Amino acid sequence: MILLEAGGPKTNAKIQALYEGELVDSRSHPWLHQFRVRALGGSSRIWGGRCLPFDPIDLEPRDWVPNTGWPIQYEDLLAYYPAAQALAEAGLFDYDPASALPGAPAAFAAGLETAAVTTRLERFSKPTNFWNRLGDDLTASPKVQLLLNAAVTGVRLGPDGAAVNHVEAVDRLGVKRRVTARRYVLAAGGLETVRLLLASNDVKPGGIGNDHDQLGRYYMSHTAATSGYVTFNSPPAFDYERDAEGVYVRRRLWLTEAAQRELKLLNVAFRTHLPEIADPAHKDAILSAMYLVKDFVLYEYSRKMRERPVTLTDALRHLRNIIVNPVRLARFSRKWITRRVLAERKLPSVVLGSNRNRFALEFHGEQAPNPESRLTLSSERDRLGMPKLRADWRLTPLDTESLVRAYGVLARALEETGAGRLDYDPEAVRTETIRAGAYGGHHLGGARMSTDPTQGVVDADCRVHGVDNLFVASSAVFPTSGQANPTLTILALTLRLADRLAGELAPAGDPR
Ligand SMILES: Cc1cc2nc3c(=O)[nH]c(=O)nc-3n(C[C@H](O)[C@H](O)[C@H](O)COP(=O)(O)OP(=O)(O)OC[C@H]3O[C@@H](n4cnc5c(N)ncnc54)[C@H](O)[C@@H]3O)c2cc1C
Repeated sequence: MILLEAGGPKTNAKIQALYEGELVDSRSHPWLHQFRVRALGGSSRIWGGRCLPFDPIDLEPRDWVPNTGWPIQYEDLLAYYPAAQALAEAGLFDYDPASALPGAPAAFAAGLETAAVTTRLERFSKPTNFWNRLGDDLTASPKVQLLLNAAVTGVRLGPDGAAVNHVEAVDRLGVKRRVTARRYVLAAGGLETVRLLLASNDVKPGGIGNDHDQLGRYYMSHTAATSGYVTFNSPPAFDYERDAEGVYVRRRLWLTEAAQRELKLLNVAFRTHLPEIADPAHKDAILSAMYLVKDFVLYEYSRKMRERPVTLTDALRHLRNIIVNPVRLARFSRKWITRRVLAERKLPSVVLGSNRNRFALEFHGEQAPNPESRLTLSSERDRLGMPKLRADWRLTPLDTESLVRAYGVLARALEETGAGRLDYDPEAVRTETIRAGAYGGHHLGGARMSTDPTQGVVDADCRVHGVDNLFVASSAVFPTSGQANPTLTILALTLRLADRLAGELAPAGDPR
């Protein structure tokens, strides 16, 4: 096996710049060289490690969400989720607080359990950098040849377009080489995989897998923003906990499949969150310190704070918050250094309690598949001569209205169970969702899976329709986004594909 990796062992600005692209609306989507990493380990060098499986409903055709339905069954994912989770070092495949955290009350807050709203866990990887975890095995393996600084710039089909003949890769000196193999797997991330297929347009003018104008369409992320405040009548289980293996887990409120079906809503989950960090009105020494050191924090994790212009008055008010309560900050710093900076398994993020049990509310929601939300090629080229990518990411009223209605469902559940109260403004939910835009590094769709070649780019085995020896291992194949972060499902689909390929390539008589 030959593994062609565009980057090297370290990140490098010149190589990272090859990810630059064009945006139709730079307010709604991050620049394309941000929120992904072109180096060994890829974006797992900076990911947050939040692991969640898709829900069964995410794979079903839903009459209230156009263009839904996967060509595989949930069981196909379930068969690989435990192994995916082991690779991600995220513990057992158990997202039910009742069994994963025995002895603790299962619900997020006392009494808060209805047919529409329930408590689920999210699990956290260390977070695992997959190159650090697997690199030694790969380099030691006699079966794997790893080529670094080998950027694939084109997938070249044979004259009839039915199979890949070779791929072109450019080395660090700009020398172009041909690499031939029996099978080819594109695993370059959600955006770059689509770019490669689009740009490989010498035999097929629209790009590979684009005979039916599907390639680049249905480009999705997740909707995610903080809006409204939830007040609980008793202290909720809002903080990180550790399961029996020491893996960090955290509870989230999830809209059940029954509620999604009955009310015709998109999938969504809610979490308690920090108040607006940049606004010193919170009077919290920890949040003010976070704000003042924001320029030293990776852009991907400080973008929201950086968006708010700093005034001298604000800076002074933040300083005042710290001076008034240095003990709180000192205690927090000690915990952060031991549990985050020095720990191998890292505390995933800053979570703070509230004396009044009042928390800002954050959601992470499904974005409906939309053929007009798409990736195409820009007229500009990078220094290797490849056309850059152009992202035209679009929300629809279905996305925003479903969230507004989901807020209503959560508000009712809190009220009916007496667990608490949700204060929110439906208009603010809409505007915040639009303002927050596409969620960071979640690049989904663009080469969707379908049974019918006219409806997608790859088949149920992730083989590009009509191209016998070309496969995709990436979130680009997701037909829907679900509410779950993507990496666990990327891993599960990739393990499944690896099994298929091992079967195809095994000598006769050998089951693998
Ligand atoms: C800040 C941040 C936080 C995140 N947090 C989470 C989280 O908590 N949970 C979660 O599930 N997901 C999270 N993600 C998303 C997660 O990182 C991605 O889903 C995951 O890394 C995708 O894996 P991948 O292998 O498909 O792509 P990538 O990680 O992008 O890897 C692609 C690889 O292909 C190489 N490559 C690219 N182009 C070429 C080319 N032309 N030729 C050869 N090689 C090439 C790259 O160098 C890279 O090594 C986060 C992302 C970011 C940026």
